[in-house]
Amino acid sequence: MKILVINSGSSSLKFQVIDTDTEEVLAKGQCERIGIDGVFNYRTARGLALKEKYPMKSHKEAVDRILKTLVDPEMGVIGDYGEIDVVGHRLVHGGEKFTGSVVITDEVLDVMRACNDLAPLHNPANIVGVEACRELMPDTLMVGVFDTAFNQTMEPKAFLYGLPYRFYEKHKIRRYGFHGISHRYVSRRAAEFMGQRPDRVKTIVCHLGNGASICAVKYGRVVDNSMGFTPLEGLVMGTRCGDVDAGALEYLSKKENLDFPQIMSILNQESGVLGISKNLSSDFRELKDAEIKYNDTAALAREIFAYRVAKYIGSYAAAMTGVDNIVFTAGVGENDSDIREEICSYLEFLGITIDEVKNREQGEAVRISDGTSRVNVLVIKTNEELEIAREAAELVNSLKGRPKM
Ligand code: ADP
Repeated sequence: MKILVINSGSSSLKFQVIDTDTEEVLAKGQCERIGIDGVFNYRTARGLALKEKYPMKSHKEAVDRILKTLVDPEMGVIGDYGEIDVVGHRLVHGGEKFTGSVVITDEVLDVMRACNDLAPLHNPANIVGVEACRELMPDTLMVGVFDTAFNQTMEPKAFLYGLPYRFYEKHKIRRYGFHGISHRYVSRRAAEFMGQRPDRVKTIVCHLGNGASICAVKYGRVVDNSMGFTPLEGLVMGTRCGDVDAGALEYLSKKENLDFPQIMSILNQESGVLGISKNLSSDFRELKDAEIKYNDTAALAREIFAYRVAKYIGSYAAAMTGVDNIVFTAGVGENDSDIREEICSYLEFLGITIDEVKNREQGEAVRISDGTSRVNVLVIKTNEELEIAREAAELVNSLKGRPKM
């Protein structure tokens, strides 16, 4: 089955064409600066590549450009649009309504629009991407894969805040958790890599990128996720603060005469390791370079980040009454061996020992714990596009009554 995977943001649209029979990426790329000036980036498995300025006033023009390139006699990878069996859309917030992937219908879009308030930055941009594809490929099945869906197995004890219950009933204020597509892919890949059955193991996935979250997956189901009502809660991130006392924010608003939108902008864009390092950088590579040159706040930012991750791992081991696998993934998790080492240094009480040589190896999946470690510690490259393609194919196959992939 050939699946076009679409990840639509407010001014960018990433895409991949994946053949789910071989799991080969036939082509991939992205449209950037949509509605501004427009840049088109494209690469095929055969090594053809293209990067050029291309004005795109709307997401529809971006999708049009993608489709035309995919069928181009020279650059393309398919003969006509009909060769695409399904379009799989990454959708950020499905609220409590969606616990799995869905075929996108008018009703599904209406429910998504009702969730717009829950993810004002992401959901409207996702919907625009869906609408553009529906207009240009009216006969092609569209499937939505939600970032929140995998986390919907959390129990009330994990997803409710200590707020009056009526706010949950009235406004659905609760913890949703995010990065579900990545956490699902990585937890299952870890089990596969270790020769385990996913429904028999307890796994903690540390998705450490610009946005960062930790997920406790017990026997294939999410028990807890460090992100909450929004992706702001939990870890200290590139520019987001993570957990913070609401009382401090009220105090700050009075002291600095700030209103809520201003405070939210500080918490989302000016905090995290960027804010702690006195605006040096949100990029862990730059912070490491600065730390080597004895920059104290850069070192502190990395230290606080690692400490918070370790704290969450400890609490999730308790939440699952044990842990078999701890997995690092995403930009920082996959590449920053020093941070991994620092995090793991807190975890010796769990019987964790790291092989320093393995920790510096690169690969799609590497076990970095040594033979004596009581918990497997792994580094696995996340692959959200493949997960979306797999889920879309699985859904379509189940609808057709064919055996699942
Ligand atoms: P996003 O949340 O935007 O998808 P990524 O998962 O791509 O983020 O992670 C991006 C971050 O990964 C960068 O900001 C950078 O801090 C970090 N990163 C990437 N490569 C390295 C590296 N070699 N060493 C340390 N950090 C890295």
